Amino acid sequence: MSTIRLNNVNKRFHDTPVINNVSLEIKHGEFYVFIGPSGCGKSTLLRMIAGLETITEGEIYIGDRLVNKLPPSERGVAMVFQSYALYPHMTIFDNMAFNLKLAKVNKGEIQRRVLNAAKILQLEPLLARLPKALSGGQRQRVAIGRAIVRDPEVFLFDEPLSNLDASLRVATRVEIAKLHHQLGNSMIYVTHDQVEAMTLADKIVLLNSGAAMLNKGSIAQVGHPLTLYHHPVNEFVAGFIGSPK
Ligand code: ADP
Ligand code: MG
Repeated sequence: MSTIRLNNVNKRFHDTPVINNVSLEIKHGEFYVFIGPSGCGKSTLLRMIAGLETITEGEIYIGDRLVNKLPPSERGVAMVFQSYALYPHMTIFDNMAFNLKLAKVNKGEIQRRVLNAAKILQLEPLLARLPKALSGGQRQRVAIGRAIVRDPEVFLFDEPLSNLDASLRVATRVEIAKLHHQLGNSMIYVTHDQVEAMTLADKIVLLNSGAAMLNKGSIAQVGHPLTLYHHPVNEFVAGFIGSPK
């Protein structure tokens, strides 16, 4: 069963093509990583799936629903961003509960979901604190917790680790891999970091860069990380996957 299907998706910003004929099928439980040079369209593609950006042409299905016109809250997705702005005056519990309160989920259910997410992310001892009393890595875990409590079919991550220092990046990356094993959901993870892509992905989607290529914003290659590494379809793929920064 496929969780997400993209059929010939195109995006233009004021007539400038940014995403070019992207078709993809992501099966239930798969961990996909979108990678490519800065400006190639990774965030735009993710934001179209999330419903934060309109689609110029093509179709996006989540489950068996065509979601092109659905607002983000009705798509069954939850997104974790690079900048994880928490509400500074609210406790960690209230930060994690906030969207559920807005959605009028009942109190007992909110309590159950927040405690469950806190347990998964080892945030239980921190629930009564304010964000300023947490480290950067702990705050990013709270941002992931806010996504977990919504119990989404699909998790979308946009460079969630790029604001963390190197050792925390590795630790949080391991947490995300564990989370994927535990929850079994589909995940799409955007990064420009080859090591993150190689270690996390079931499948990598490498997008062509805008600068040197006519086929900008299209898929250069999709496949298992080792397939891209050992059998790149062209020099762009070989250069990108073969040379970690
Ligand atoms: P990436 O995440 O791979 O770095 P983006 O998806 O952010 O790339 O951007 C892809 C291209 O689309 C870039 O050239 C960027 O300048 C352009 N772009 C992104 N958002 C907008 C927007 N809201 N209006 C106009 N151009 C945009
Ligand atoms: Mg981006």
